[in-house]
Amino acid sequence: MISTDVVIVGGGPAGSTTAWKLRQADLDVMVLDKTAFPRLKLCAGWITPRVLKKLEIAEEDYPGGMVRFRTLHFHVYGVSIPVLTRQFSIRRIEFDNWLLDRAGLPVRQHQVRHIEREGDNFIVDGLFRCRWLVGAGGTNCPVYRVFFKGLRPREKRKQIVSMELEFQTDLLTEKCHLWFFRHGLPGYAWYVPKKNGWLNIGLGGSHQSMKAKGQDIREYWQLFTESLMKKKLLTALPPEPGACSYYLRQDGPTVQDGRVLLAGDAAGLATLDMGEGIGPAIESGLLAAETIVQDVPLSFESIPRYSLPGILFPWKR
Ligand SMILES: Cc1cc2nc3c(=O)[nH]c(=O)nc-3n(C[C@H](O)[C@H](O)[C@H](O)COP(=O)(O)OP(=O)(O)OC[C@H]3O[C@@H](n4cnc5c(N)ncnc54)[C@H](O)[C@@H]3O)c2cc1C
Repeated sequence: MISTDVVIVGGGPAGSTTAWKLRQADLDVMVLDKTAFPRLKLCAGWITPRVLKKLEIAEEDYPGGMVRFRTLHFHVYGVSIPVLTRQFSIRRIEFDNWLLDRAGLPVRQHQVRHIEREGDNFIVDGLFRCRWLVGAGGTNCPVYRVFFKGLRPREKRKQIVSMELEFQTDLLTEKCHLWFFRHGLPGYAWYVPKKNGWLNIGLGGSHQSMKAKGQDIREYWQLFTESLMKKKLLTALPPEPGACSYYLRQDGPTVQDGRVLLAGDAAGLATLDMGEGIGPAIESGLLAAETIVQDVPLSFESIPRYSLPGILFPWKR
């Protein structure tokens, strides 16, 4: 059995950021992820200046491909609104791998299934023993399932379903578009160009609203991709997209049970207006590390609940 101070379940932005800060405090940490990195993660990969600030990295020092947007093209009920801002797009396959690499800690490819308490410690799958356990395994995190399902039940109305696809294309536009409530979608659709000819298209919205209307997200995907073809933003209908679900910010119930902590999507922290989850995952990882190092209670109060203020006033954050 391997014994460490901390086991982090999940090596996404929440887990790798926790690991990065714990490493700086000289703690003995093991990251477990079911997937080998670099790994694909369904995500538009839009990040904010605040994310770079929290990661203590300048835009020009990021080693992967990054596009900077000075304008986001919002479209609301047929009205186009160019919004001056400063935002970025990255590819998650590169970004997450870089974050985990930078943490400089051992990462074990291992799917966590079983967790139990043993006195003051936790035993993970009979293989790893730790004093602190961090659940950063995304929406289906086993740490959430074992310790927090009863303590922090997820609100159905906060569940987002989404579909997206990232592919290389020879389209030359570098404009980022966001269409809100198009075709009655209870959410928005996006068109996010990335570096080196990559493009991410997708849409997401309230699962509960779609269910109430008897609609399936695939119907919206069909309408969306057809409209991109008509606008000449796509040259051919793309192949099958991937689908995923996650939860918007939920306040209140606990994110800590003694020495078990939640971070990122495992806690359900994406912003209430735009479903931005990378920033909250990173900030919750920093706060989880602080809790472990300083033995202070974990609170996510300081993490923004909305993205729009950061889009409209990026220099303020
Ligand atoms: C389609 C889509 C588009 C999005 N677009 C954006 C965007 O543009 N900008 C933005 O800010 N947010 C976006 N989000 C949200 C964002 O992707 C998430 O909030 C963010 O990835 C959360 O990070 P995390 O580290 O908590 O979880 P993840 O990135 O999901 O990482 C969790 C890790 O845990 C691992 N894991 C899971 N189960 C186990 C297990 N049992 N054992 C071991 N390891 C396990 C997984 O392999 C994974 O690597 C989007 C989400 C979706 C679905």
